Amino acid sequence: MSGKPTNAQKCTGRSAKGGHCGAPPIRGTKRCVLHTPGVASAVGKLGGMRARQFDVSRLQQFPPPENATDMRKLLAVMVIEMRTGKIDPHLATRIAFVAGTFLRSSEQEDIKYVREELEALKRKVLGVTA
Ligand SMILES: [Zn+2]
Repeated sequence: MSGKPTNAQKCTGRSAKGGHCGAPPIRGTKRCVLHTPGVASAVGKLGGMRARQFDVSRLQQFPPPENATDMRKLLAVMVIEMRTGKIDPHLATRIAFVAGTFLRSSEQEDIKYVREELEALKRKVLGVTA
């Protein structure tokens, strides 16, 4: 038995271009979820409820982070907002990705700063003038 639906197992609805839908129908019906009257709008409403549940205006406001310390504070607050259901986990995941990039670039800047400090100290100790 193949997992592919036969014509009898395909939705009888039409695609936007006028062709056959081809999606598997809801069990016991001839139509898929999107072509069953009322179901698509109900699914759309659920999406709307989700968007309202995660209203970004409820999140704590921050100025743009300027260093790793600022970013760590933002991430710490975001953990609490995630645990209290104030932030969409998908948005939190995207922010965490961007934060990771920010922290790596911040780390590079710190290494550059330490290297410059060491060079200055070396010149001072050895009496070398640049
Ligand atoms: Zn369909």
